[in-house]
Amino acid sequence: MNAKNPSFSVPPAALRLLRTLEQAGFEAWLVGGFVRDSLLGNPVSDVDIACSARWEQTENACAAAGMHVHQTGIAHGTLTVVCQNETFEVTTYRIDGSYSDARHPDSVQFGCSIEEDLARRDFTINAMAYHPDRGILDPFGGRNDASARIIRTVGDPRLRFEEDALRILRACRFSSQLGFPIDKDTFDAMLAKKSLLLKVSAERIASELEKLLLGAHATETILETVDVLSAVLPELVAMKGFNQCTPYHAYDVLEHTARAVGAAPASPLVRWAALFHDMGKPGAFFKEASGRGHFYGHAKISVSLARGVMNRLKLPPALCSRVLQLVERHDDVIEPTPKAVRRLLARMEGDVEQFKALCALKKADASAQAPEYAEERIRRADELLRILDDILQADDAFTLKRLAVNGNDAQCAGIPQGPEVGAALRAALDAVIDERIPNDYEELMAFLKKWQG
Ligand code: ATP
Ligand code: MG
Repeated sequence: MNAKNPSFSVPPAALRLLRTLEQAGFEAWLVGGFVRDSLLGNPVSDVDIACSARWEQTENACAAAGMHVHQTGIAHGTLTVVCQNETFEVTTYRIDGSYSDARHPDSVQFGCSIEEDLARRDFTINAMAYHPDRGILDPFGGRNDASARIIRTVGDPRLRFEEDALRILRACRFSSQLGFPIDKDTFDAMLAKKSLLLKVSAERIASELEKLLLGAHATETILETVDVLSAVLPELVAMKGFNQCTPYHAYDVLEHTARAVGAAPASPLVRWAALFHDMGKPGAFFKEASGRGHFYGHAKISVSLARGVMNRLKLPPALCSRVLQLVERHDDVIEPTPKAVRRLLARMEGDVEQFKALCALKKADASAQAPEYAEERIRRADELLRILDDILQADDAFTLKRLAVNGNDAQCAGIPQGPEVGAALRAALDAVIDERIPNDYEELMAFLKKWQG
């Protein structure tokens, strides 16, 4: 790979921003993920710019060129600039001062060189800069490490993790996203310093864990870094090496879980649910005299552990409740009939996406079981999805909203105003779901007239 590597395609808006800063007399480089992902030939998510200008100077130069500027992180020299409807972070070159809390630098110093700015960055593959005329600046061997596919800190890993312990999880996250192993010295330091993660905010931890779970190589990363992740997810420890003692499972609970995560679609909902679905198994386990293991009620124990983890990580409440419902129901046997599917949809308050997520979790769970049982279970989940399609196609009723009568109609049918209206409509919906009556106005009115709470 050379400096004019054609794999660098700088978005036109980023180029305009770069030129704007240069025409105002400053030096600017593209940095971070853009350089790493371009070198690796991966899709580029966002473009960050490092610049010699102070944030006030950047603001003036950009505003004069008609761009919108937001003061998103001026204490750290960061502005968000909107150029041609695209958003960029522009950060002043900086050196981080000493860290006394394993989270934030006590001070930051501006006015340094790009090389000094790159030195404060976490991993060699993240510590390169690129400029369309000047090429790649790579003082820490990032290109070599990218070719060797390795994650290694810039400088002494112990010191770098003492400065900011979140980097320990970021290493796991990049390993999962890129499929790169972690350099041995770096990994040893991650183990030695993992307890510092307790000083890091729940939100930052949750964000890195979620990216890890969504990574294309999440299965391998969970298995390889479990002794690091255990600092923030101690619930994983009981799962590691836990033999299930059943013919359905070829793997221990942790490996089964890691495989289920990797097999699930890359959505936060299903991947978090996959992480938690069997967390209760070690707690629910008992062995019968024959030596066969059982886990009756494990889903409920998984729910309780999952709730604890998600509260600790401060995940959004709406996500939590959806994850918990999937964990609780992941092992439910759902009859492959339209009635059963409509009933479950009604219990899910008509949330079709949640139903699809449950099927996706079931498939991921099945595919991580012993191969001889997987196929049949995957087929059953696919059958449920096919039935769901038919139900949607036929516009079947499975919520009160889809019922051909409403509260006013119920009152016209003689149901007194108040809670009985809801109860009568729910009874009517049940009758429609169970195919006792069609979703037809006249038939429903006749049903309501006869209904006695
Ligand atoms: P992506 O945005 O695709 O997740 P990224 O590499 O751009 O990946 P960001 O979190 O956006 O990751 O950070 C941008 C850059 O800032 C990183 O590439 C790295 O150089 C630096 N960086 C971010 N967080 C840290 C940190 N905690 N310690 C040191 N450097 C960091
Ligand atoms: Mg980024």
